[in-house]
Amino acid sequence: MAKIYTDNEVSLDPLKGKRIAVVGYGIQGRAQALNLRDSGLDVIVGARKGSSYDLAKREGFDVFPIGEAVSRADVILYLLPDMVQPEVWGEVERNLRDGSTLDFAHGFTIHYGLIRPKETVDIVMVAPKAPGAAVREEFLRGRGVPALVAVHRDATGEAKARALALAKGIGATRAGVIETTFKEETETDLIGEQLVLVGGLMELIMKGWETLVEMGYQPEVAYFEALNEAKLIMDLIWRYGMKGMLERVSVTARYGGLTVGNKVIDGEVKRKMRMYAERVVSGEFTKEWLKFYKEGNIEELMKRISEHKIEETGRKIREIIFREP
Ligand code: NAP
Ligand code: MG
Repeated sequence: MAKIYTDNEVSLDPLKGKRIAVVGYGIQGRAQALNLRDSGLDVIVGARKGSSYDLAKREGFDVFPIGEAVSRADVILYLLPDMVQPEVWGEVERNLRDGSTLDFAHGFTIHYGLIRPKETVDIVMVAPKAPGAAVREEFLRGRGVPALVAVHRDATGEAKARALALAKGIGATRAGVIETTFKEETETDLIGEQLVLVGGLMELIMKGWETLVEMGYQPEVAYFEALNEAKLIMDLIWRYGMKGMLERVSVTARYGGLTVGNKVIDGEVKRKMRMYAERVVSGEFTKEWLKFYKEGNIEELMKRISEHKIEETGRKIREIIFREP
């Protein structure tokens, strides 16, 4: 069993008297900066001039150019988009003081060697397992989202204590924090989003919807079946587990699901899952993505989805479902 750290086992003390610079005031940056400040810690923000710079100012932070924020801090949360991190790294590196702690929310750039910090700084990770908005919303409700922590390099002897304190400061220990490695976090994150979360779910829903529509059923009825109810079933799985979900659907749904699901999502699908997962581990996926990031156009790839008929149906239905009462 993995060790799960909870709130009363972790102290904020390793961060007391230390200044924390949150670099990047985006989805994670904003949520983490606000939570750490509300936890009573000394937080400044590093950002380029622009909209998030202004937002951080309006929200009461002292905001500095990235290099200057880094030079003023003992603990740096590097929360720029992963693909931007290597581009801005020079400015960070020039200003990084020996004995400081560099924290990431995802292991990508360190694990694949896109950033190589000097030997005299800690490299740690606090990776919330939730979108940034939830990191803030749950904190405000007095709860938190789970997170993974890892130490890639302990230069100060305090790296793990500081990482856990950061996890506590953003509220994650309230929900449970598991220790991992940069390798495990990075690879499982990429594999998970490709096979299950972003890629797998989307294609499962779309192919289910297409099947119904091609059989002549109304697109709107198909939408309720393949997409809208997927959320409700997922909520049951999330709350009660697989068996708990099965116990809460009709006995016909239970029998049909048990006998047909594994014939559709079969060994062949699983074999392909393994094949694409191995491409993450070998670094082949990242090589491809870095090349695409430079030369390709993700908007082009998005077209297959945005021009899909399910989106047209979905817009109509969501207008009704989410209409203000
Ligand atoms: P994000 O919201 O896309 O980051 C946007 C921020 O980066 C903005 O402050 C933006 O400033 C700044 N920025 C973008 N390009 C820049 C550049 N060239 N120079 C300087 N600043 C630049 O990023 P994110 O999604 O929070 O991701 C941050 C880290 O958290 C990543 O490692 C990611 O993997 C991890 N993470 C994210 C989530 C999530 O929910 N999004 C979940 C878990 C982990 P401007 O306003 O000036 O453009
Ligand atoms: Mg991810």
